[in-house]
Amino acid sequence: VNRMPIAALALSLALTGCGASGGQDDGAAHIVVTTNILGDVVENIVGDTADVTVLMKRNADPHSFELSAQEADATSQADLIVYNGLGLEEGVQRHVDAAAGRGVPTLAVGDHVSAISFADGDTAGAPDPHFWTDPDRMIAAVDAIETALIEELPDADTEQIATNADAYRARLQELSADMEEQFAAVAPERRQLVTNHHVLGYLAQRYGFTVVGAVVPSGTTLASPAPSDLESLSGAIRDAGVRTIFVDTSQPDRLARALASQSGIEVFVVSLYSESLDEPGTEAGTYIDMMTANTKTIVEGLSAN
Ligand SMILES: [Zn+2]
Repeated sequence: VNRMPIAALALSLALTGCGASGGQDDGAAHIVVTTNILGDVVENIVGDTADVTVLMKRNADPHSFELSAQEADATSQADLIVYNGLGLEEGVQRHVDAAAGRGVPTLAVGDHVSAISFADGDTAGAPDPHFWTDPDRMIAAVDAIETALIEELPDADTEQIATNADAYRARLQELSADMEEQFAAVAPERRQLVTNHHVLGYLAQRYGFTVVGAVVPSGTTLASPAPSDLESLSGAIRDAGVRTIFVDTSQPDRLARALASQSGIEVFVVSLYSESLDEPGTEAGTYIDMMTANTKTIVEGLSAN
């Protein structure tokens, strides 16, 4: 058990206590996390050893969400900022950079997960930020988060953090094995994915799927497709015999439906929780539940149609 010396405690209170960020005056360290997926993971590791604020709302788009002035202020006063990185948080990155410039420790989790790059589309060559679609990458993320918490929050209960991280890693290993077992039911020739933007590259790599294309041929939801993009994707879908297009629950599926009607074959548009958690208590209220729900939806979507 860590008991900090009284002098250190007093100093810690002076540095982190109260202030305009609001109510964090119990001396506990304050961690700010950008996305709700990483927020869930960080909360599992932190337990009650520190306070965690998650900036991204449930069912929001991680590429485009932005901060209120109050949230930006809380971010600038955090003891540690945990963010996805790899270009994901286009609306928030400048706040993370500003806080880092003021000396707030930051962890770009994506820098620790063996990132891959987009193969094609208008973000070809850029790093793919959607590493959470591979639970093995999330285990690497837990390692990085645990290390950062222990390094940056020396006054927190680091033994408890290590115990929590071990327990959560074990659950992720279970998830990874469970997904492998479920996906084994999909015939090899049906392991072809079409999504709204390029969101499942890591899942495809980990579990042996081919990404045929994306309705928005980009690594970000902030891009939009040209008519010629939709035409070439229609052709690819016909050639590959793909029947199911997976769209994100947080994104309008208008384009996918337009493509479906344009491709000349019967195509099904199915929603995945690929970018954001749903409300607590729903089937995608936690990262592990979200991945479990998506696995079931992908297996059904590729097998039935
Ligand atoms: Zn995305």
